[in-house]
Amino acid sequence: MNKKDNHMKTQIVEVPTIKVPIAPSPGFLKKELSDFKLDIMALCEFGCKYCSSNNGNYLRIRRSKFADLTEQQLGERVLPKDNPKLSFHWPDILQNLSNQLARKSDNFGQGKTLVFSMLTDGFSPELIKNETTINALRMVLEQTQFRIRVLTKNSIVGTKKWIDFFKKYRDRFVIGLSIGTLDNMWAKKVEIGTSPPQQRLKALRQLQDAGVSTYGMLCPVFPDMLEADRLETLIDQIQPNVVEHIWAEPFNDRDNWKQVREGYRSGSTGYKWLTAVYEEKQNGIWSKYATDLYLQLCKKAEDEGWIDKLRYLLYEHDISETDARKISGLKGVLLQSKMDGEGKSKNPSFALLQ
Ligand code: SF4
Repeated sequence: MNKKDNHMKTQIVEVPTIKVPIAPSPGFLKKELSDFKLDIMALCEFGCKYCSSNNGNYLRIRRSKFADLTEQQLGERVLPKDNPKLSFHWPDILQNLSNQLARKSDNFGQGKTLVFSMLTDGFSPELIKNETTINALRMVLEQTQFRIRVLTKNSIVGTKKWIDFFKKYRDRFVIGLSIGTLDNMWAKKVEIGTSPPQQRLKALRQLQDAGVSTYGMLCPVFPDMLEADRLETLIDQIQPNVVEHIWAEPFNDRDNWKQVREGYRSGSTGYKWLTAVYEEKQNGIWSKYATDLYLQLCKKAEDEGWIDKLRYLLYEHDISETDARKISGLKGVLLQSKMDGEGKSKNPSFALLQ
């Protein structure tokens, strides 16, 4: 990895290790990403300001307990949202994974996909350095039948060492580098500690050139990407004709929008957009953006013949009736809002489309 990739020094706190590391991933099943998930740490070493994991059940329920541990081990009481350098490690993860796999039959994972990882980045630098990442992957490869969907923002996966490893288990891996902007400067301020977007794209290309299976992960695509052919440029760079699938989703995070806004210059399109949508609560602007993003993706996908690969993740409850009409046919759309008891969207416009 280029040294510039990981300029920050992580502050690591050890927290109690989960007992059963491989677990079903119903949220990712709904997104058609995976059936099971494996996280090998409790809080990612990358500090993306829009990361939803900080507000997820696991960290929320343990917030106070983990703050106590942080204070004991680092001498200051800080929370993940206040310090992007903070990371929570599970010291017994390999042992607990080994214990779990010892109880499983030989065909565990057959025909199923395991995402690595869902709530954190399994290619976090310290875990690579202390070989937790490679050892966890080896255990999964040798003791299960899962196909492994790597999801990361670390361009290290495009280096020769990792490419050789993925190639050795060619049928078992599909690799994706999550990316939703081409703006390296913005990413530096918002996706703290990750590899710059251009390096992630380069890594994806290196994997593709080496014949490793890949997928596109445009999650989330930020609003300024809809201007001046930026989205089309990004899509071209992930090579739709080569990847297995392309996931994309609009930004929709009511918890972290202020921190994300700090990454934009005051007065820029992104800054104004976040202010209008989340501070002034002009939901129509979000509805139009999510719809326009879909329409641009859909048009390019249809023009180029890869609509079957598109997986547009849409929390549709905030889409207006007028915009919903533009999404007729739901081609390439995976509705993500909670359904009613009969599996229908609670947004009447989408219930009709279903
Ligand atoms: S890399 Fe992923 S898991 Fe890690 S902080 Fe960023 S969004 Fe969260």
